[in-house]
Amino acid sequence: MSHKLHQDAKDLDWNSVEEKWRGRWEASKIFETELNSKKQKYFITVAYPYPNSPQHVGHGRTYTLADVHARYMRMKGYNVLFPMAFHYTGTPIISMSQRVLGKDMELLNTFRTIYNLSDEVISTFVIPVEIASFFHKEIKQGMKEMGYSIDWRREFTTIDKGYSKFISWQFRLLRKKGLVVQGSHPVGWCPKDHNPVSQHDTIGDVEPDFLEYTLIKFSTDDGYILPTATLRPETIFGVTNLWINPDIVYVKIVIDDEKWIVTQEAAKKLEFLNHNVKITSRIKGSELVGKFAKHSFVDVGIPIYPASFVEPDNGTGIVMSVPGHAPYDYQAIEDLKKRVDLQGKYHMDFTVSPIKIIQSDNYQGNSNVTPAEIITKEYAITDQQDSKLEEATNKLYGDEFYSGVLLPITGRFSGLLVKEARFRVREDMSAKGLISMMYELENKTVRCRCGTTCVVKLLTDQWFLDYGNEAWKKLAHECINSMDVIPEEIRLEFNNVIDWLKERACARKIGLGTKVPWDPDWIVESLSDSVIYMIYYLISKYLTNDKDDTNSETLIHSDSLSDEFFDYVLLGKGDPEEIAKISRISPNVLNKIRNDFLYFYPVDSRHSGRDLVPNHLSFFIFNHVAIFGKEFWPKQIVINGSVLMQGKKMSKSLGNIIPLRTAVKEYGADAIRLAMLSTSELLQDADFSFDLVKGIRSKLHEIYKTTLDRATLLRDPMASGIKEDMFQMELEERWLLSRLQHAISETTRSLERLRVRESLQIVLYFMDRDLQWYKKRKKAKKGDPLKSKAFDEFLSIRVRLLAPFAPFISEEIWEVIDSKGFITSVAWPQVDIGKIDPTLEENEDLIENTILDIQKITKVTKIVPKRILIYTASKHKWILYKKILSAMQLESQVNFGDLMKVLINDNEVSDIAKTEPGLIKKIIADILSYSTEVRKRKLGLESFDEGIPLRDALTLIMEQIGFEEITIDIVSEDQDDRYDPKGKSRFARPFKPALYLE
Ligand SMILES: [Zn+2]
Repeated sequence: MSHKLHQDAKDLDWNSVEEKWRGRWEASKIFETELNSKKQKYFITVAYPYPNSPQHVGHGRTYTLADVHARYMRMKGYNVLFPMAFHYTGTPIISMSQRVLGKDMELLNTFRTIYNLSDEVISTFVIPVEIASFFHKEIKQGMKEMGYSIDWRREFTTIDKGYSKFISWQFRLLRKKGLVVQGSHPVGWCPKDHNPVSQHDTIGDVEPDFLEYTLIKFSTDDGYILPTATLRPETIFGVTNLWINPDIVYVKIVIDDEKWIVTQEAAKKLEFLNHNVKITSRIKGSELVGKFAKHSFVDVGIPIYPASFVEPDNGTGIVMSVPGHAPYDYQAIEDLKKRVDLQGKYHMDFTVSPIKIIQSDNYQGNSNVTPAEIITKEYAITDQQDSKLEEATNKLYGDEFYSGVLLPITGRFSGLLVKEARFRVREDMSAKGLISMMYELENKTVRCRCGTTCVVKLLTDQWFLDYGNEAWKKLAHECINSMDVIPEEIRLEFNNVIDWLKERACARKIGLGTKVPWDPDWIVESLSDSVIYMIYYLISKYLTNDKDDTNSETLIHSDSLSDEFFDYVLLGKGDPEEIAKISRISPNVLNKIRNDFLYFYPVDSRHSGRDLVPNHLSFFIFNHVAIFGKEFWPKQIVINGSVLMQGKKMSKSLGNIIPLRTAVKEYGADAIRLAMLSTSELLQDADFSFDLVKGIRSKLHEIYKTTLDRATLLRDPMASGIKEDMFQMELEERWLLSRLQHAISETTRSLERLRVRESLQIVLYFMDRDLQWYKKRKKAKKGDPLKSKAFDEFLSIRVRLLAPFAPFISEEIWEVIDSKGFITSVAWPQVDIGKIDPTLEENEDLIENTILDIQKITKVTKIVPKRILIYTASKHKWILYKKILSAMQLESQVNFGDLMKVLINDNEVSDIAKTEPGLIKKIIADILSYSTEVRKRKLGLESFDEGIPLRDALTLIMEQIGFEEITIDIVSEDQDDRYDPKGKSRFARPFKPALYLE
């Protein structure tokens, strides 16, 4: 027997236990999944990793969660397919390689000190594919060491030749469907690489979000245009002044035959929007302040005021001021009114251009007070630096957008809702050539992985996935609304993303990946070549690439893959005989792949971190609905939050990044897995710490040791006589089995919704509490807790509930218990309803409460009793109790008067109800104090004899209250000759025996 290896649990060597089971799993091919028509399949996938750096503890949560899910479904009898691949596409790997080439010290030190890589290894990283294949192997090994139940035969990388063929097919198909379009759209852009950027291309994985601004053109007397960027063009009618920073040097430019003044930064931004821009001269802001501008929509000259808050890279560096409706402008004017020095310097006169109210809404109380003033006072704002200004602005803008109506001062736009006016005013000004457009990054500053600050570029004649297509959006909504989303609250987020997604640039100039099939200067970018790849796991298994057994006749070469091949195996189009002829793949193999697809697809569960909701996961939905019929749409998405290290974000600067493999080596995989999952539910950040890991490890050790002790006892020849004892079920054994059924049903219910924290609480801690009580009870009766069949059952079920979470130690324990087969393949425990008995649970609660009551009394009164009498309530009180309970059911309130009427009219309890209203009040209070669960249990009781458990636990009660030479009597209130010198028995209530100490 192998557990001789670890006779003493103290010797448990976690790493060798893990190695042993990894070896056995691999040898038995237990995770290699094939089509099995007799079993229902379950296809579970996680976003594949980027092998551009090693895995640290923070990376482990999503994969561990998916593995727990896979293992759970496997035990539930599903034919689970859990594959893995590696994402090489795009710039992350190349830019990492360039940083090594450029001797980026921060990166090199991270590799050296945190990940312990030798300089020899690091020196190979100057070649991108070397860096990828190194970390690919590292990550894969880490996944194996973590015990992930992956079918590795299906592994691939996204630069494999076969994968490129698959992506080419996908893109040609999308183009045929009119979903890949050529057009001019704004994109995040790296000016150095001349490449569009999205989340995967930026430092810190920031998705560049941008807003579309209207540039309103004001003009000066000497023929220059002063453009201001705004999101609210309809407020032109409320403009009182422009803001210019006197300390900035502006540039005069010629832009598409017009003369403008903007900041240098703005000139650059305009260039990326495909304007022809030429700087002709420079001008200090202070030279412009004090002058006047004009606009045909405004009937007076518009003064230019000084503003230090105007940043050169904010819009054009010139801002239009609408103090009636913009709290920032209102406050800036108020502040300026106090600056007599500036007023003198720039000859300012605030009466020239008075504040105007241009729209009415809820803020319109007094027509002399502007909405901006009202809200600024409401938020008690004192100056421009006040952080509450932002909040006040958002509130006012939102309110005006939804309920504002333009006033007569706006002329022909009067009476329009703001929502509509915004659009109409812009159209009108556009027709008159009074505006232009500008895009601004909303989340400044976004940096490309090369270090360059990103901009918004208007890309012309480029390839976009048309996520703005309404018909496509409709299908995507249908898909997300028909699938299971865990946790449910994320569904709304998906629907919002689907609504706001627009055309998305799907090609890049640089990076690894597949060439756009019809435009080979471009490469399909990483968030576009990773949307339906789960299918490729069903094909990769059949490819010869990098596989040893090339002789097998079922293996095919990637050269044979054609559009016709993919059309047939994935869409069922075409004739397999004909495709076989062109592709040199036998019809038999073609049909095998087709059948695999029909069997394994759709994806049953997709796991991912929350950051992928607005991009990858939404694209995953879009592309599935574009290409496949409803029967192949994904069925579930599971989202999880990130991992904190002792309450802090993991970062290089905090020095709290721990490589996953290092942690596993030191503490063992099981404890690391549990520590990642036990502190939080899905969306919360998990708080990881090594103290927690150690605590969990000793808990696992304890479970293992208990099993081992039990096994040792059974092998002891002196113990042969115990066999018969084992089958005698006393109250505490039957109780343990009843509790066990709850543990099974609650753990199952939690795991069904992947509430892993809750499941682990039950398995590690609540079950332990039951076990401790059972042991205490048994020992007090001079019994041996190890010698019972119920205890056996408890151990066997607990380890099965633990197995998806802690697979290694669970196998080790299972080998001790059963020694046949893997726990991985054992069935998930089922609830045995026959073993659930509410009476048993009431028994133990009563015993525990009685002990606590006696302890309380002796502590308060300081009596050292020689004799204790426990009086149980009379039959009559029990009848009353049941009537009250069934009248109240699960209500959280009760009308005392109504209840009394019912009781007084009931012959069985009428007399007691009349004479003992106080007792009834107490019983009501007792019932109200119970949880719903306990009340349900009590409602289900036929009858309950309190004497039985109390007598059964007499030795335990004595032991727990801890007085020497004491007698305890359990007496029913119905017993006529009872000893009751102080008349205490009349205070007894059902489930609340009365006590008398002397
Ligand atoms: Zn760059």
